[in-house]
Amino acid sequence: MDRELTVMAVHAHPDDEVIATGGILARYADEGVRTVLVTCTNGEQGDGPGGVKPGEPGHDEAAVAERRLAELRESAAHLRIAHLETLGYRDSGMVGWQGNEHALAFANVPVETAAARLGELMERYRPQVVVTYDENGGYGHPDHIQAHRIAVAAVEGTGIPDKLYYSAVSRDRIRRLGELMRAGGMANEEFDLPDDFGTPDELITTVVDVAAYADDKMKALRAHASQGDTIFLLRLPEEAQRQVFAEEAFIRRMSRVAAPDREDDLFAGLRA
Ligand SMILES: [Zn+2]
Repeated sequence: MDRELTVMAVHAHPDDEVIATGGILARYADEGVRTVLVTCTNGEQGDGPGGVKPGEPGHDEAAVAERRLAELRESAAHLRIAHLETLGYRDSGMVGWQGNEHALAFANVPVETAAARLGELMERYRPQVVVTYDENGGYGHPDHIQAHRIAVAAVEGTGIPDKLYYSAVSRDRIRRLGELMRAGGMANEEFDLPDDFGTPDELITTVVDVAAYADDKMKALRAHASQGDTIFLLRLPEEAQRQVFAEEAFIRRMSRVAAPDREDDLFAGLRA
């Protein structure tokens, strides 16, 4: 237990690092924990200038990727991420998009191939804690599901991490936010989420208080300006953003150390 405390977050696209894990990355960095962000794809299926979508005239994949990777570096700086690692896979696009069929799309790469590369990073950084998405990739994006698969395979294959977490969105919290917005006259149809949106709270094992890092998260999210149209949270009033950003929730999927059933720290059981 005398190795440097290290957390590794495994994400699919530039911008995914912010909403579910930006607070823990900034907070742990400030507390002296080494933070590693692995972003699996270049995000080339994101919006081009003026919101043009892949396949539309004016959408230049190479330019989109270059822009998004620059935004990622800026976001990582706001979150004080110590090590940013990019695997450079091709963005598969949303379910049903033509990009899904590309032979080199991340979602089509054999899990063992990509997991081996991620495993090399685990060997290098030796994270005690790894954070990624759940089996559904949070919301079904093929690249998020693939990131989940390779993270689980690399955790099992290397045997290095002591704890594995899936990021979660508290259903109660979303419901309370909806009430707050309706009460404040801020509600809009975009926020009309189904009642079963998010993770049932009884499944959430770990909630980390990151309220003090809401500003860092907002700056990091704004760094991804080229994707502004797709980042719905950026269009919420700032008060609502602060509410959303105050906590980050996780499901502890695996632990090789004794830790309480309900934790407020991903490193519970790992600190001297
Ligand atoms: Zn994503």
